[in-house]
Amino acid sequence: MTETSHTYLVTCPSCKTENRVPAAREGQAGKCGNCRGTLPPLYLQPVQLTDRSFDSFISNYKGPVLAEFWAPW
Ligand SMILES: [Zn+2]
Repeated sequence: MTETSHTYLVTCPSCKTENRVPAAREGQAGKCGNCRGTLPPLYLQPVQLTDRSFDSFISNYKGPVLAEFWAPW
């Protein structure tokens, strides 16, 4: 499922254009082909955050975020 030939559609938060992003560009912020705005980085796997990294990741990510909270106890 992580073949580099796969592409994914990332919707531009500014103009709503769907941009094809190759799997090899995972984690990189691309540019919209229509308005040249910054696209949110593509993540193929969930990103594990901690209490130290959560706030900066969420405030810097331009796209929608689905968060699952859990604790080991
Ligand atoms: Zn755009």
